[in-house]
Amino acid sequence: MASDTYEKFIQHVRELNTARAIAELLDWDQETYMPPCAAEQRGQQMALISGLAHEKLTSDEMGNLVVQLDEAGAADDPTVATNVRELRREYDRAVKIPTTLVQEIAQTTSRARQTWLKARQEANFAHFAPQLARLLDLKRQVADLVGWDAERYDALIDEFEPQTRAAPVQELFDRLKAELVPLVAALQDAPRQPDTTLLERECPAGRQAAFNRRISAAMGFDFEAGRIDVSAHPFCISAGPLDVRITTRYNERYLPGALFGTMHETGHGLYEQGFDPQHTGTPMASSVSLGIHESQSRTWENLVGRSRPFWEHFFPALQAEFPTLADVALDDWYFAINVVRPSFIRVEADEVTYGLHIMLRFDLERQMVAGQLAVDDIPDAWNTRFREYLGITPPNDAEGCLQDIHWSMGIFGYFLTYQLGNLYAAQFFQAARRGLPDLDEQLRRGELAPLREWLRENIHVHGKRYRAHELVHEVTGAELSHKPYIDYLHAKYKPLYGV
Ligand code: ZN
Repeated sequence: MASDTYEKFIQHVRELNTARAIAELLDWDQETYMPPCAAEQRGQQMALISGLAHEKLTSDEMGNLVVQLDEAGAADDPTVATNVRELRREYDRAVKIPTTLVQEIAQTTSRARQTWLKARQEANFAHFAPQLARLLDLKRQVADLVGWDAERYDALIDEFEPQTRAAPVQELFDRLKAELVPLVAALQDAPRQPDTTLLERECPAGRQAAFNRRISAAMGFDFEAGRIDVSAHPFCISAGPLDVRITTRYNERYLPGALFGTMHETGHGLYEQGFDPQHTGTPMASSVSLGIHESQSRTWENLVGRSRPFWEHFFPALQAEFPTLADVALDDWYFAINVVRPSFIRVEADEVTYGLHIMLRFDLERQMVAGQLAVDDIPDAWNTRFREYLGITPPNDAEGCLQDIHWSMGIFGYFLTYQLGNLYAAQFFQAARRGLPDLDEQLRRGELAPLREWLRENIHVHGKRYRAHELVHEVTGAELSHKPYIDYLHAKYKPLYGV
């Protein structure tokens, strides 16, 4: 393969990703510091930069380079092979969808979002139904243009979790559901229950920010290559491994919100900071998939942040920062932050019930995309499943099928990545324990660096080199399974609740 062809190709790829990084920064600014009057101008700036990125990706020049390199055969150098494979994938997907369809989806989603907001406010699904039906129809067209083998939904999932198919996910989720439903019921009926009122004691936002910053620093977040700011909805964006921005929000009467939210976003941020800076602007410095990204945030938020060893070290520091917690025993704190309670809203769900919220959405989406579930029947289907999985019935559609923004944005095939993230996280963590036999002792001493380095070496530095299923095999020596996650939940929650 001519190396000057590859050089030219990489230059194009870096320009494409530079445009995308600018879009990320514009987006970050919009959510954090942008004055309200700048909104319209920001819209124009975003449209211009996204348009430039799309032109760059779908240009004849990029097409020629990517096809030429791809047809020269797989390169021996894994960096070259990865970059060519991933751009071929992106290019093919982008050129298959005509601009007119992209525009129609953009227009429909902008209307649908307004309609959804109003429908949610009024708890009136019927108001949103026609727009949702239209979006589903447009996304089915996208799936057909992109192409699929077993079922249409696969083509939509592929955008977020490449090479993951609905049928095997369904099998995995079914096995998981068979374990989770009785576990949730058993914990509900347990005579021991945590006192969660201690989580509502007053904790000033300024002190929360200082404490959370210390935790992020202990996790290894590099403040010379990243920032933490405040936004209405927490997120993590990256303009490359040397510029990673995370956000959080503070509630003075609910400490765990910002605390675990910051640990979650820091987990995402460590993944982004863990790429090799020499690969900035290429797939070798990009995440494998949304599910793998989520595995990194869940590892720190739940497997570390909601573990007893972690708090054996950090609880005295927390009490020193917040005198209102001075009389709380470590075990009461540990029980309270691990409360399991069926609730209606996904984003507020605990780590045991969370998966059931996702499985319900996955079931419905799969049927909606296949045309087996009519849009008008969604509220009934939602509520029936909710009762079946979680034992409670949403009082209205605002707290049921209208709660998430995703469908109003035409996003189908995204939810499952959240739960895959939990499964990947548990399986990776099992492997980390084999690699770090003293992990619990290290956490007890507040030493978080060994785990971070393990994640960096085994997962982060590879960028997109492996697909998700390959990475799981590479790191854990096995296929993705529901077992490590279920074993983790049983080992933790049964003794806690005494069942
Ligand atoms: Zn996340």
